[in-house]
Amino acid sequence: MALIQVEHAVKRYGDVRALNDVTLSVEAGSCLALVGESGSGKTTLLRAINRLTELDGGHVTVRGQPVAAIDPVRLRRSIGYVQQDGGLIPHWTCLDNAGLVPALLGSADPAERGRDALRAAGLDPEVFADRYPRELSGGQRQRVAIARAMAAGPDILLMDEPFGALDAITRNEAQESFAALRESAGVTAVLVTHDLREALRVATRVAVMRAGAVVMESAAGEIVRDATGYAAELLEKSGVVR
Ligand code: ADP
Ligand code: MG
Repeated sequence: MALIQVEHAVKRYGDVRALNDVTLSVEAGSCLALVGESGSGKTTLLRAINRLTELDGGHVTVRGQPVAAIDPVRLRRSIGYVQQDGGLIPHWTCLDNAGLVPALLGSADPAERGRDALRAAGLDPEVFADRYPRELSGGQRQRVAIARAMAAGPDILLMDEPFGALDAITRNEAQESFAALRESAGVTAVLVTHDLREALRVATRVAVMRAGAVVMESAAGEIVRDATGYAAELLEKSGVVR
């Protein structure tokens, strides 16, 4: 079943077509990576799913319902979102950050949800609950951002270059632990990245974007074999051996 369906999505900024007739679907339980160079429309497409971007044409359906018909605040609270810089609230502790969405949703015990989420993201709440984001490494901050996005147990997670700011070793660890966490939680995810190697490590499917369009979509395990043209170029640029 497609949990997310995007049909003929169009988004214009002046003369720029950030999305130029994008159609794709995301099956329940899968992780789709949106891969492409800067400016190809990845973030715009991701944010169309939780209505942080309103489309000029086409539509998005989530869980079988057109998002245009869902209250945007309710929609966003039902979908985990990790924005590009993590977006933690700097003057809130890790625990308060992690428990934010459960608190907004009126959970009986948001702190408990927050602690569970920190633990699941690989951070011991005994150690990290009372720390502030500035007291964390980049990798730890990223884990708090992921914990916050997953604390309310959403079935869908949207992530915008979540590992981009990390050094290579930390990034590999973060990618692996995220892939394991996503799979064990059974969360359906859309991951934006400009790094095809990351996409192959973390995702089950890959959509290659260029100038507002999806130019190729394939299972992660088949893209190296199937890529032609621009997608093949991108594989080479990313250092994926062919
Ligand atoms: P990516 O995430 O792949 O780098 P974006 O989706 O952010 O790409 O942007 C796609 C295109 O839309 C780019 O040309 C970008 O400059 C433009 N764009 C994105 N957001 C805005 C905005 N708020 N105002 C004007 N142009 C925008
Ligand atoms: Mg972007």
